[in-house]
Amino acid sequence: MKQGYIAALWLAMWLPAAAPAQGGAHVHGAAHLSLVQEGGAVTVALDSPLEAIVGFEHAPKTAEQKAALTEAAAALKGPDALVQLPAAAACRLTDSDIDLPFMAADVDHGHAHAGHDDHDGHADVTASYTFACAQPDKLDRVTVKAFARFPRLHHIDAEAATAAGQGKAVLDAAHPVWSLPAKR
Ligand SMILES: [Zn+2]
Repeated sequence: MKQGYIAALWLAMWLPAAAPAQGGAHVHGAAHLSLVQEGGAVTVALDSPLEAIVGFEHAPKTAEQKAALTEAAAALKGPDALVQLPAAAACRLTDSDIDLPFMAADVDHGHAHAGHDDHDGHADVTASYTFACAQPDKLDRVTVKAFARFPRLHHIDAEAATAAGQGKAVLDAAHPVWSLPAKR
């Protein structure tokens, strides 16, 4: 985990705006995606307004809203609904960490509990996936699948820190392929 911590620290220093927990902007339809590569360890992390994923940002009130949350939780369990890494990089998922608001056990009570959403009435989803990649130098792009799966998601601000360098991109449904920094 020390490696991941250093990578996260490095990214946080390099990209002060990339750490949503530290006050990143909450704009509906806009999500952040980060990729950090250190050797064979690659972490891809999404931070999105809950609205873009399920269409609301409060405790579920209807059967449809509960189903939307359950479906989102299932979709985010693995990385496939969000991103596809190049097969040549031979990446294997080793860890994931999903934080989907209102999916706690007490959601079934059917009413909102203080502290589950932000004080301003907004809520964010975070999902991070760690991979072990056998050929990390083949990691030249990320294909973002999230626009197809979550049509409310309008665009993604993407930021990468890899062995080849650092890069930023703005991705949307028409431009879902993120070219990562290339070796010079
Ligand atoms: Zn919101």
